[in-house]
Amino acid sequence: MNNFEANLEYAQSQDDIDILYPFRERFHFPQHNGKDVVYFCGNSLGLQPKSARYLFDRELSDWAKWGVEGHFNADHPWFSYQKPFSTSLAKIVGAKEEEVVAMNTLTVNLHLLLMSFYRPTKERYKIIMEAGAFPSDQYAIETQVRMHGYNPDDAIIELTPRDGEYTLRDEDILTAISDAGDSLATVMIGAVNYYTGQFYNLKDITEAAHKTGAICGFDLAHAMGNVPMQLHDWKVDFACWCSYKYLNSGPGGVGGIFVHETHGNNPDTFRLAGWWGNEESTRFKMKKGFIPSKGAASWQMSNAPVFNMIAHKASLDIFDKTSVQTLRNKSLTLTAYCEFLLKQLTHLEFEIITPSEPHRRGAQLSLLFGKDGRKVFDALTNEGVIADWREPNVIRIAPVPMYNTFEDVYSFYEILKNLAV
Ligand SMILES: *Cc1c(COP(=O)(O)O)cnc(C)c1O
Repeated sequence: MNNFEANLEYAQSQDDIDILYPFRERFHFPQHNGKDVVYFCGNSLGLQPKSARYLFDRELSDWAKWGVEGHFNADHPWFSYQKPFSTSLAKIVGAKEEEVVAMNTLTVNLHLLLMSFYRPTKERYKIIMEAGAFPSDQYAIETQVRMHGYNPDDAIIELTPRDGEYTLRDEDILTAISDAGDSLATVMIGAVNYYTGQFYNLKDITEAAHKTGAICGFDLAHAMGNVPMQLHDWKVDFACWCSYKYLNSGPGGVGGIFVHETHGNNPDTFRLAGWWGNEESTRFKMKKGFIPSKGAASWQMSNAPVFNMIAHKASLDIFDKTSVQTLRNKSLTLTAYCEFLLKQLTHLEFEIITPSEPHRRGAQLSLLFGKDGRKVFDALTNEGVIADWREPNVIRIAPVPMYNTFEDVYSFYEILKNLAV
């Protein structure tokens, strides 16, 4: 049990014993009236690692110095620039190094993976997703379904919370999967829902999907660097993510994919091919006939967009200095403290729609306002709190364990407490 207290001294005492406290110093904070803002938007765009500028400068220097020879002679040779990333990414998603690769951006990767893992047939053509999923995921799935000649209204099964509820019950997800049975080709769900912050039980969902003979994948946009995962052991088939949210790799930064080795090491798994996915030993033979390299790397199409990967390197270097589990341990307490403080507030009309069970959420709390939500949001912004507004009436806040403090959470509470709307 947590013996939380609603005062500044208590919050500061928690920061004093937080082993991640020094990590805050590694990031640039936007300023408000000469002070760091309370930055609760790391679920939308993470903060800039201070080391990024140095790494950018170095890459620019190497380009100036070497020209094309930088592919092999740069300090971090561009030919294989993406390779060391897999070590860090594998730890973050709980996978083997060969099962992950940094490439492209999220929605592009989702399409590429669906090309491989949504292969509908006349009998088995349905795909399960969350109702109200992030629009990009909705568009991707809808157009994939159309591309194969099926009708989205028939082929897409949307999971909807029960009447009067905001989040999905675990058992309802599993039932929907088993009910779809032999007609189900693929399950594709956001591991942590962007709107409610609900963290689904990826292991059980994967197991249920496999029981029906379907493939199972996840969009990890809001899960990467936020919640611990064991994608390999859970036998998840595929996953993709972006790196600019909890992974702090800058706007539009390079994304990544996970493909379980059972598919990645199978040359018969269909993938759209490009030269960078070809076996390295024959890549430059410039011959006909694609020979996929091993693992997720074979989904790569182009050579590494180095300048879109530098901030990712800066960020992964920082993740390497800690672990997702360490971050999670702090996150559980930080989010619970935030929830505790919010519950002290009685003068504002809102409800927390994020699940209250710690294992069913990550670092985010979504506050659904009855009225005045927008006013509260604008007032927070004026007071130096950066949160996130989602129509029609939700304020999302994300106390990020990497760089947010208990004092941040307390300041947010104080500001809300003194807010007259
Ligand atoms: C952030 C987010 C995206 C954004 O996609 P991009 O291709 O990176 O622009 C897509 N899906 C989900 C679930 C997200 O949270």
